[in-house]
Amino acid sequence: MKIPVMIVNEVVLFPNTEYRIETNDKELENLIHTIEESDTRSVAIIHSLDGESRDDVLSFPSIGIYSMLSFKLMVPNSKIRAVFGCYRRVYLSNYEKINGIYYAEMKEVEEKIDKQEENRYSTLLLRSYEKYVHYVSSVSNAMLNQLSGILSLSSLTDSLAMLLPIEIKSKKKYLYELDVVVRAKNLLEQLKEEMSLAKLEHDIDEKVQKELDKEHKEYFLKARIKAMSAELGEESVKENEIKKYKNRLKKLKCNRKVRERIKDEIRRYESASSSSPELVMMKDYIEWMLSLPWEVMTKDVTSLKQIKKTLDEKHYGIDDVKLRILEYIAVKQNSKKERSPILCLIGPPGVGKTSLAYSIGESLNRKIASISVGGINDEAEIVGHRRTYIGALPGRILQGMKKASSNNPVFIIDEIDKMRKDMRGDPASSLLEVLDKEQNSHFQDHYIEEAFDLSNVMFIATANYEEQIPMELKDRLEIIHIPSYTEYEKLDIAKNYLIPKALDEVGLTTLQVTFSDSAILSIVRYYTKEAGVRDLGRILSKILRKIVRENLEGDTVFLREIGEEQVEKYLGKRRYTFYEQEEKKQIGVVNGLAYTPFGGDVLPIEVTYYQGKGNLILTGSLGDVMRESGQIALSYIKANYLEFNIGKWVFDRDIHIHVPEGAVEKDGPSAGIALTTALISSFRKKEVPSSIAMTGEITLQGRILAIGGLREKILGAYRAGIKKIYLPKENKKDLEEIPDEIKEKIAFVLVSNYQEIEKDLFS
Ligand code: ADP
Repeated sequence: MKIPVMIVNEVVLFPNTEYRIETNDKELENLIHTIEESDTRSVAIIHSLDGESRDDVLSFPSIGIYSMLSFKLMVPNSKIRAVFGCYRRVYLSNYEKINGIYYAEMKEVEEKIDKQEENRYSTLLLRSYEKYVHYVSSVSNAMLNQLSGILSLSSLTDSLAMLLPIEIKSKKKYLYELDVVVRAKNLLEQLKEEMSLAKLEHDIDEKVQKELDKEHKEYFLKARIKAMSAELGEESVKENEIKKYKNRLKKLKCNRKVRERIKDEIRRYESASSSSPELVMMKDYIEWMLSLPWEVMTKDVTSLKQIKKTLDEKHYGIDDVKLRILEYIAVKQNSKKERSPILCLIGPPGVGKTSLAYSIGESLNRKIASISVGGINDEAEIVGHRRTYIGALPGRILQGMKKASSNNPVFIIDEIDKMRKDMRGDPASSLLEVLDKEQNSHFQDHYIEEAFDLSNVMFIATANYEEQIPMELKDRLEIIHIPSYTEYEKLDIAKNYLIPKALDEVGLTTLQVTFSDSAILSIVRYYTKEAGVRDLGRILSKILRKIVRENLEGDTVFLREIGEEQVEKYLGKRRYTFYEQEEKKQIGVVNGLAYTPFGGDVLPIEVTYYQGKGNLILTGSLGDVMRESGQIALSYIKANYLEFNIGKWVFDRDIHIHVPEGAVEKDGPSAGIALTTALISSFRKKEVPSSIAMTGEITLQGRILAIGGLREKILGAYRAGIKKIYLPKENKKDLEEIPDEIKEKIAFVLVSNYQEIEKDLFS
């Protein structure tokens, strides 16, 4: 019988297997197609003898495998997938090619075998294979089970021949060997060989594994030892720490309760495992407890004379301030028990509040703690966070105490007027607990948890604005105002304090450089605009640094005296004008006076009006109180329009009041009379000289009420060249504070009712 032939060279197939291909080879497709079309769908699969040829009949074997196409599928990318079942050995002869396909004559092979022999060999083979599998970990026991299920020796030998990892050449031998017993015998040999190989491999593996294990073991042991010794080391570090803590605790001055608490904490730390995440927190807490000055006190200087001397050395003038401070200290010394109020220094920036507070500390020989509470809106900043809070710390008060390292320092609390209140709490009330003598002997910080005695602390607060200090705090404060300085006071401060300090800083002496008075005054007038002397100090230092540099570069020898011209040389063009009020007369423009962080300043107020419905427009970043002042002024004028000689038309005009420099916020009632005057000047088209200024609150009846910050305002007016100021009669006593040199230059008109101004200016 003729049968198509398929040549397969990549693998050696045996009966009782499957052959799967996927191909787009045209010849092969043609062959598969032909097989599919045939009745029997059968094919003889052969392996060419040389393992390569596909077209050389001489290399085609005489034995092939009778197979049948069991499955065919066209898959995407135009390939054919086919599966053949391979069944039995057949003889093949007379190969010939027809239409591109080889055909051969096929004859059945008959396998004869004695049943007993078959069983014997089957058992032998399976046993042998079982042993082999034992050494080859890659062969699974499932395979062994499958083989045990094979009944014929022929099939068993074929399966084994296929499974064993032997060369293709050897496999072919098994395929072409028709005597089953010989196949079995050979396979037994083969298995033995394979087994000894596998055993060898297995032994080697085991040895290598042992070696590796040994190495591993050593490695692990070493790692273990390392870890243990690290642990031991850490333990000893911890032990060391505990020893140190205990020593510190012995020396710590504190009460029994605190001591017990620290002892407990050290014990807790001692028993905590070194991997405990709380360890750091415990350490931090113990550190804090051990470093607070629970009962450490410094001894005060008690001689008032001595204290005064130190204050004088550090600070020029402000004699009444110093006097009040001395009184305060005297009272404090006298009556230790009595609740003494907290000092609060109030004044514009740079007038020396903070430095005075430091000097008080120095003069008493106390340590100094200093915090700023400006912008604080969280009470935890004052009293700390509870320890359960991540990153918890004590509040600023105890932080300050730790830095001060004594429990009776001078404690400066800056910017007490700039605390804020929101949902996170009210820091002012926490601060109250700190400042209140009744409560502060057992001040409770949330982190520290043990009461700390603050009753020996001398608190000094500073602020810029009295009105902005929280009411409840203000009650506890002994308020001392430090006013802004006149230019002559600044001159003195510069000569006696700032210049020597600045010279010292750059390593010069008064023998090498001095400043003429006119130079200092010109710096004050044309290069600074401030209530205090902070900028003045900075600028003096700047000039001195430039002189030192020039000298090092060899450009100049030291100047003995710096005059006005040198000032301009070092500082460049003047930045501010001073006293240059050219006499102008304007309608609807009147100078008010304001109290700003730079001290006093002149605040021109402008008015205009036009046909409208009687509306009032106010611009220039005015606060509520100032807007109301504008409304009061206008109502007062409208109510008395006949007395003021203004026509009825005023009722149907829209009126616009503007206060220039719109970016600067302005508020307060003190512009009342200036607003009124600007309105009248505008309505009556009467000029007001620009050398006049006025300040005072106005009522609907035209009464003029007292205002605050007069000294600053007058100093501001003075530097702006104002020659006449209207002010409330009620402020008369404040004029006593005004330096004579200013009183000589400015005429003050005290008024209690607006009509007085009207008469003076407009009639
Ligand atoms: P404040 O706290 O009021 O803003 P500072 O205390 O910081 O002001 O003072 C600013 C600078 O001015 C400091 O260097 C200070 O020594 C100096 N100063 C202020 N007033 C005087 C004064 N009366 N005498 C000497 N130096 C002063």
